[in-house]
Amino acid sequence: MTDTPPIEYAFPDLRRWEKGAAPYIHVLESGKPGPTVMVTALTHGNEVSGAVAVDALLAAGLRPRQGTLIFSFNNIDAYHSFDPKTPFKSRMVDEDFNRVWGRLDQPATTVETRRAEIVRPFVERADLLLDLHSMHDDCVPLMLAGPLDKGTAFAKKIGTPIDIIRDAGHAAGMRMRDYGGFGEPASPKNALLIETGQHWRASSVTVAKDVTARFLVETGVVEAADLPADWRQPSPPTQRVVEVTHAIATQRGNFVAARRFEGQEVIAKAGTVLGHDDDEAVTTPYDNCVLVMPSSNRPLRPGVTVVRLGRLI
Ligand SMILES: [Zn+2]
Repeated sequence: MTDTPPIEYAFPDLRRWEKGAAPYIHVLESGKPGPTVMVTALTHGNEVSGAVAVDALLAAGLRPRQGTLIFSFNNIDAYHSFDPKTPFKSRMVDEDFNRVWGRLDQPATTVETRRAEIVRPFVERADLLLDLHSMHDDCVPLMLAGPLDKGTAFAKKIGTPIDIIRDAGHAAGMRMRDYGGFGEPASPKNALLIETGQHWRASSVTVAKDVTARFLVETGVVEAADLPADWRQPSPPTQRVVEVTHAIATQRGNFVAARRFEGQEVIAKAGTVLGHDDDEAVTTPYDNCVLVMPSSNRPLRPGVTVVRLGRLI
């Protein structure tokens, strides 16, 4: 895949949503008891499919029937820095917004930590959170359900996509979806993170709308008839749960894949060579090993995760 894949849909003009409960954050109250439900887009600034869905719901004037509905465009500064000549750069401004959630007690010195301080009270208020992401590589969608049983159970209730990934996140820092009660087994709070597909594929917008619609109806804040009729897509016949066991990082950015791998491809035999990192063979540790979001098909910086390995459970 080239460095600049085609952009298959129009990016929304979000400046009309600047004025809200906080910049680019909108809180819709039903006035009736019920859960506080939050949908976030642009946690990574170039992951625009979710922003299309949130923009459309705000434009349609969607209101919750019970509880509270919160919409946020998280890393809006990164989004507004988009340059079609270097489209991957607008993922962030100073650092990854989705790795700062374990150190918000420290002084905010970056665009992302300052923005996280603004977003945080809304995240803390939310009982249920859907964070809309997409992928650098052209992989099939997946739901990152976090490490807990409650996340997997919630992902099954949503009913799509096929792959539910149980994972503990990243050594580089806590994700928003694991923050506070979302990461506590005993808390009723719950969060999901959808990876809709490649950032700029039209199909990623379809997935973002489908999952957002399913999530909102599942939470009970709206009814299916409140949402655009064409958002909901057919459910896959089954879902499967993949538990991430290993993260393979490239030491010095010299990983060479044995071949091109597809997202969530299953490698039947333990010991299969996935590639070489500085001439050292990287092999599958067990039979039926799932390659979660392989980014092994392109050059990577030192230390970056090439692929995560998972077991079907
Ligand atoms: Zn992302």
